[in-house]
Amino acid sequence: MASPNPVFIPGPTNIPDRLRHAMNIQTLDHRAPDFVELMAPLLDGLKAVFKTTTGSVITFPASGTGGWEAAITNTLSPGDKVLVARFGMFSHRWIDMCQRHNLDVEIIECEWGSGAPADVYGERLAADKNHEIKAVLVTHNETATGVRSDIGAVREAMNAAGHPAMLYVDCVSSLASMDFRMDDWGVDLAVSGSQKGFMLATGMAIIGVSERALKACDTATCPRCFFDFRDMAGANANGGYPYTPPLQIMFGLRESLNMLLGEGLDQVFARHYRIAEGIRTAIAAWGLKLCANSPELYSDTVSAIYVPEGFDSNVLTKHAFDAYDVSFGVGLGQMAGKAFRIGHLGLMTDVMALSGIATMEMAMKDLDYPIELGAGVAAAQNYYRHPTNFANKQAA
Ligand SMILES: *Cc1c(COP(=O)(O)O)cnc(C)c1O
Repeated sequence: MASPNPVFIPGPTNIPDRLRHAMNIQTLDHRAPDFVELMAPLLDGLKAVFKTTTGSVITFPASGTGGWEAAITNTLSPGDKVLVARFGMFSHRWIDMCQRHNLDVEIIECEWGSGAPADVYGERLAADKNHEIKAVLVTHNETATGVRSDIGAVREAMNAAGHPAMLYVDCVSSLASMDFRMDDWGVDLAVSGSQKGFMLATGMAIIGVSERALKACDTATCPRCFFDFRDMAGANANGGYPYTPPLQIMFGLRESLNMLLGEGLDQVFARHYRIAEGIRTAIAAWGLKLCANSPELYSDTVSAIYVPEGFDSNVLTKHAFDAYDVSFGVGLGQMAGKAFRIGHLGLMTDVMALSGIATMEMAMKDLDYPIELGAGVAAAQNYYRHPTNFANKQAA
């Protein structure tokens, strides 16, 4: 179980030593007066990562799934209509959760490998003359297919339709790794978690909440107790927590924010882009295809890769684990057996990425995939020696 090798799964991610040490603390009294000195700066740091000045941040002891549930139950009532696109396993699971909370879910079915269709969102909203749709849900980074969607475009479509629905975004596998702009994009609820871009243990749901979303708590009637925003925000405002806080993760988060904001968010995003590009260069050298339909959709945190016809991706990921003690992501949902995933977010360097590429090459060669040993490694080495400038790419 305790391999010294990095994992190449898109969460939970590798934990830097610096953060493991920061989480190694003795129990503290969360009712002691100095708890506020820990809590308040965390929320400020998280606001910087969400890029919000007008919104607030609410955390819960939970995984990202708990964050979804908190976002939904605090702001919606049974029977409320929500509009959501399905293009992968995570958007699917969010839809399933909405249905189980008895929301009226209007689904935009999309091909897996495509991104959130801003134009279709716009059409459906324009057709909703009575403004029955209360919320628009979008998965920023679909971790099952390695697709990043354009949230700004969805916001523009909402504005163009003149529709007052709130915008809910799943940014669990993008926040703190790829650019996310809560205020600029007019996001009302942004759901994330501790174990991906923040490089921490699992156990904290992290939610950006707009002023409007916070007000919606007063009229929303979905049952909630543990996840009540008002209990948490109220307690936090007085330097407290409504129940026992996940202290170890909070100490880790303090250090994680130091790392991320110390490196600079732009540098963090540029690093993720560079590492991802190297891996994509290797995938191309193998002659394999990404699930993501087109380059503007490529995720910088996870790549989902189709195996050639006649091969089973589950056999490949199992072999990589059995033979080399390295975990890669399996294909999820309709990708099962057809694709594997390389997670490349959080603690990751060019050198770590090269080791993952080399391992995957060995595993594929062992199973008689039509690839040359070293082809992907060499392609990535060439890229990492002279990476394309991120700033130029942004401007293009
Ligand atoms: C990881 C992830 C989640 C949340 O999963 P948990 O296991 O509950 O933390 C939600 N959405 C996306 C896109 C994810 O990648």
